[in-house]
Amino acid sequence: MESNAPWRATLLTIFPEMFPGPLGLSLAGRALEEGKWALDTVDIRGFATDKHRSVDDSPFGGGAGMVMRPDVLDAAIQGSPAPGPLVYMTPRGRLLNQELVRELAAGPGVRVLCGRFEGVDQRLLEAHGALEVSAGDFVLSGGEPAALAMLDAIVRLLPGVIGKEESLAEESFEWGLLEYPHYTRPQVWDGRTVPEILLSGHHEKIRAWRKRQAEDITRQRRPDLWDRYVAAKNVSEG
Ligand code: SAH
Repeated sequence: MESNAPWRATLLTIFPEMFPGPLGLSLAGRALEEGKWALDTVDIRGFATDKHRSVDDSPFGGGAGMVMRPDVLDAAIQGSPAPGPLVYMTPRGRLLNQELVRELAAGPGVRVLCGRFEGVDQRLLEAHGALEVSAGDFVLSGGEPAALAMLDAIVRLLPGVIGKEESLAEESFEWGLLEYPHYTRPQVWDGRTVPEILLSGHHEKIRAWRKRQAEDITRQRRPDLWDRYVAAKNVSEG
């Protein structure tokens, strides 16, 4: 069937010109040109039915701001068949993390609904069983920048997008830890030197030092990740 089709992102937005944006450059941009992934935009306004092409209306129950209409959004979704779960970017969603990024990268693609105004009608999300995803505990003015961040994280995991597989394997979160610190030339800069161990050529000791650093940084900065790491380690060792 479509097993050879590239991983596909379909963006439903009232600002299609925001895409591919930064995803058209660098690693993701090259991979897009080479057909290692595909990107389509669907202009939600194209599915409005009145002469003003309105996609939003005032909220039932009153209050500030406007809400995106379920009928217009549904027409946009139904009118643009594409693979993958329907993802709605929202601060109320499941916090985006590397685990979810890996899950989405392993599928056929995603359809991403980018909200604007106060958000979208709840019934639309329920009717489509939308997967609600948050970029973090902050409020953006629209779902587009959140979608760009999510897609960037997904695309770099797709086969053949990043050359060296190792550079993925050692990254933050891949082992449940934050990454160890990096150093490059010059060896002395601003009166600061590079940790001696890294100049030793002793690969085993360097690996151990880096692991210790990653553990220390994770324990200090992210007690939540650290607790999970310790629990997982106990399970695998016990
Ligand atoms: N009234 C909403 C915020 C609306 S912001 C609330 O209080 O939750 C406008 C749109 O930006 C939202 O519909 C959502 O699609 C998007 N958005 C804002 N912050 C986001 C975040 N942290 N992650 C993902 N999408 C976000």
